[in-house]
Amino acid sequence: ACYSEALRIMREAKDDVLTEREGKRLLALYGIPVTREALATRADEAVRMARTLDFPVVMKVESAEIVHKTDVGGVILDIPSAEKAAEAFEQIVASVQSHRPEAKIAGVVVQEMAKSGPEIMMGATFDPQFGPVIAFGLGGIWVEALNDVQVLLPPFDAADVQSAIGRLRGASVLRGARGGATADLEGLADCIVKFGALCTDLADEIGEIDINPVILSASGTGLVAVDSLITKK
Ligand code: ADP
Ligand code: MG
Repeated sequence: ACYSEALRIMREAKDDVLTEREGKRLLALYGIPVTREALATRADEAVRMARTLDFPVVMKVESAEIVHKTDVGGVILDIPSAEKAAEAFEQIVASVQSHRPEAKIAGVVVQEMAKSGPEIMMGATFDPQFGPVIAFGLGGIWVEALNDVQVLLPPFDAADVQSAIGRLRGASVLRGARGGATADLEGLADCIVKFGALCTDLADEIGEIDINPVILSASGTGLVAVDSLITKK
């Protein structure tokens, strides 16, 4: 059932790049926790949505033509109040318009803010011979600077993922180095198993898929995908 619903989302997406919200609906179908969010097309609407989510909130541009939202001033984190939410709406639209005057802006997503914690990226490439190849690693500087990723070929189970997590050079960060609490590594392994199932089911539909990041709760239980980038084949 989740496969046919996922196919429907992929096929109904009007652009080759799914929006962040469409992508997260796919993730949610496979049981991956995602942020609560809604699209606002006016500042007063954004304020109303922010109030229902509770402050602080995150606001992000939604545009099929913009895949790296931060690069164009399209993401504002930690918005503390209704007044700041109204300002953030205008600021995002103005910034995106100045960076990318040709881009069509669908609106601004108002989203719950995840508590800060280790960030994980996961993605897949689709090999004609081997099928989906799943990669994951610590997000942010860890991925880019250290190229600290682990690769898994489906099918794999939570125990396989746990071993792969242990092979990350940055594994100590997740195990609570620097005095932090241990991240929810069972939750993370479960999430990566679900991500593998999604990529296997939709291997013929997905061009690129990149979930960057999933944020692990510093308190040790829970995680949430805050971004997603999925393209059609
Ligand atoms: P981009 O398109 O630039 O990748 P993201 O949606 O990933 O935009 O946001 C940029 C960064 O902001 C993320 O890597 C993450 O660190 C942070 N972030 C984004 N959304 C949230 C959220 N809902 N809660 C907490 N942090 C977030
Ligand atoms: Mg991102």
